[in-house]
Amino acid sequence: MASASANASADGRVVVIGAGPAGLEAARLAGDLGAQVTLVEKNDSPGGMPIQSNYAALTHGFRSAEEAMGEMITAVVDHPNIDLRSSSEITAMTGSAPEFSLTLTSGDKSEEVVAGAVIVATGFRHFDPGRETQQYGYYEFPDVITLADAEGMLKENNFVRPSNGEIPERVAFIQCVGSRDRQIGNEFCSKVCCGISSKQAIEIRQQVPDARVFIFYIDMRMYGYWENDIYWPAQEEHKVNYVKGIVTEVLQKGDKLVIPWADPWRLRWTSSSSPSAWSPARARGRWLKYSESGQTNTASSIKTTTASTRWPPPYRASLW
Ligand SMILES: Cc1cc2nc3c(=O)[nH]c(=O)nc-3n(C[C@H](O)[C@H](O)[C@H](O)COP(=O)(O)OP(=O)(O)OC[C@H]3O[C@@H](n4cnc5c(N)ncnc54)[C@H](O)[C@@H]3O)c2cc1C
Ligand code: SF4
Repeated sequence: MASASANASADGRVVVIGAGPAGLEAARLAGDLGAQVTLVEKNDSPGGMPIQSNYAALTHGFRSAEEAMGEMITAVVDHPNIDLRSSSEITAMTGSAPEFSLTLTSGDKSEEVVAGAVIVATGFRHFDPGRETQQYGYYEFPDVITLADAEGMLKENNFVRPSNGEIPERVAFIQCVGSRDRQIGNEFCSKVCCGISSKQAIEIRQQVPDARVFIFYIDMRMYGYWENDIYWPAQEEHKVNYVKGIVTEVLQKGDKLVIPWADPWRLRWTSSSSPSAWSPARARGRWLKYSESGQTNTASSIKTTTASTRWPPPYRASLW
């Protein structure tokens, strides 16, 4: 996210750090307002995560990431007020508004830039579900993938099980992995994955129409146009199944994966401490505690069946 640390100075120079979507847009707007802009990107080309991580189609409008980002990049490259410095970083900064002094380093060359405002738009890193939680077997099972992995497969129009190259029969999205999780210190909602998983669910249904797609969610947080452009069409036109449930782990059964899940509201309200003091890790612990007494169900009964009256209900779904 971009954040301005000061107002523009009399000489009107603004330094924007990071040339992803946020930095590109900030630079263009500042340039349009008449500021001289130095846009600093550490990578060898601009575009941010949608380009660096090979995203497929972007919302709004399911346009190819290259096309949508290409327009933003062209607007900056062609702008008379913007000086784009790729393969560069700000290595030091002194001063305060309205006069910052920054050291701009490219390779073994450094120069001083004086600016009235600095906009930091250095973006984000993808969460690593394997290393940071080890809960869903990301490094254990080839068929457990991330949204970013799926983007690359969808871009190639090759959405298959990585383990054997076959078309999947069922696909499940597990929401909120790495977010809203007090156990790992990430209490925030990342605000993109509800929309992006719904976008990808539509793309999967379009590319692999025989696959059934499930989205396991705590609550769906669709921002802005996503509600009408993605969320409702996913269900009504593309028959994506939304299931309120926390997936507690991923297991292997033969060549399939099986996912137990639990109803998040039941986990909340039966929690011994604060009603909101749940987390996937806590849910997993509860699941393990109760699973021995449970029966199992496959995805054919995924939406309706409670296998046991014991708590929590031990739903299970087989995947792929
Ligand atoms: C799987 C996935 C799919 C998505 N699909 C969509 C979609 O369809 N539509 C949509 O609107 N959003 C989508 N998003 C969200 C979107 O990717 C982000 O909102 C967007 O990339 C944020 O832009 P940004 O410029 O803040 O950060 P980034 O895209 O991370 O860009 C930051 C830039 O700053 C550079 N940088 C970092 N540190 C420095 C430094 N010290 N010096 C210089 N440069 C630096 C980086 O190299 C990078 O180029 C998706 C997200 C994910 C995870
Ligand atoms: S509520 Fe949705 S957007 Fe927020 S962290 Fe969970 S999956 Fe991501």
